[in-house]
Amino acid sequence: MVQFNPPSPRERSRTLASYQNLVSPEQLVNIEKLAKPLQNKTIQHINSTFVGGGVAEILQSLIPLMKSIGLQAQWDVLTAQSDFFEVTKAFHNAFHGEKIHFREEMIKIYNDTLQRNLSIIDKNADFVILHDQQPLGLVNAKKGQKGHWIWYCHIDPIDVDPRVWNFLSHYARQCDAAIYHLDDYAKHLPHKQFILPPAIDPLSDKNREVTSEESEKVLQSLGISTDRPYVLQVSRYDRLKNPFGLVHAYLELLKVFPCDLIFAGGAADDDPEGLEVYNELKELTKDHSTIQVLNLSPTSHLEINVLQRSAAVVVQNSSREGFGLTVTEAMWKGKAVVSTPVGGIRMQVIPGKTGLMASSVQELTQALLELLQNPSLAQQLGQQAKEHVRQNFITPVYLQRWLELMNDLEN
Ligand code: UDP
Repeated sequence: MVQFNPPSPRERSRTLASYQNLVSPEQLVNIEKLAKPLQNKTIQHINSTFVGGGVAEILQSLIPLMKSIGLQAQWDVLTAQSDFFEVTKAFHNAFHGEKIHFREEMIKIYNDTLQRNLSIIDKNADFVILHDQQPLGLVNAKKGQKGHWIWYCHIDPIDVDPRVWNFLSHYARQCDAAIYHLDDYAKHLPHKQFILPPAIDPLSDKNREVTSEESEKVLQSLGISTDRPYVLQVSRYDRLKNPFGLVHAYLELLKVFPCDLIFAGGAADDDPEGLEVYNELKELTKDHSTIQVLNLSPTSHLEINVLQRSAAVVVQNSSREGFGLTVTEAMWKGKAVVSTPVGGIRMQVIPGKTGLMASSVQELTQALLELLQNPSLAQQLGQQAKEHVRQNFITPVYLQRWLELMNDLEN
């Protein structure tokens, strides 16, 4: 989503103790031990928006949590105009292998905007974290500063357009380290590389437990009936999430198993592609009363939570995926997820253990049928999925990995 004029920060109220029921006492002790050598170290996170998207979602919980264990964590956001975000969105698409029209003018817009943002850099920071490609060029100001500068790449860079990579790698290689979500994503750069997959916050409105009253109220407001089981995909309206393939699989499924299909996503006004995909999906499904295509607001966290919890099966039919936080969120709610084996989903869905994989329309129909006909299998996979997420992809585990990384760079 293209972001304009980000509003002020929204940090959640979190301390390490908030998570004591979710991790072992040994883990909490270990986190405190890892935090000791880092007391009062300043860690500055820089990205391009306070709201919307995975990075903002992560930082809203990570920043207060880092503060609660004695780190001077701070979060700053670039100030930029729409032309800058058009450029960085094109770069984002180029990371996903799209052939973009790379022009000199883009370089100028990118560099000029970052030049105007140099004042946000905390010159005394011990760690400066540049999230994604938008603030990466700020590394130009690194010379003579004591801190560790780290580029955190939150997207899949495997098929990045060589011209875009040639431009951005010039900045990436000036950093002291880089972080990727998966081993496969690491680029050949002359510095330390870390693997740090993202995490969900089990205490956020998107993931917390909900009461049956809350659930009923939300379902009613969305016009969802639970008289029949439903299959759900939560995603931005994006071709790479392949909602059309899911419609085809569902229509096959419907011939043998009565169920509904719900798409939950947002078509942001400032993302023409999102609106286009949303409209296409509405058109494709207009004659099917059992398919709902919901257009949610960016703050519909509780709605997504309830939709995931009430689904019989959750699907993620993406053809490309960075990590796939929607999968993590559904797994955390004890749902069996059927997904394509792409990107970070491969770390999450272990076929036959924490969910099922499907690489074609036919396989997807089969996997959905298997789970709908066998709710005890769905429940078993869902329970194992939840445990897999608890052990690997929740905020306190993420914090622990951050502390290990920071200690590594300090030593
Ligand atoms: N999301 C949301 N509203 C929507 C669609 C998605 O809040 O209408 C959230 C979703 O719950 C998840 C994130 O946006 O937390 C999407 O992250 P993911 O890694 O799945 O995909 P991305 O959008 O980054 O490609």
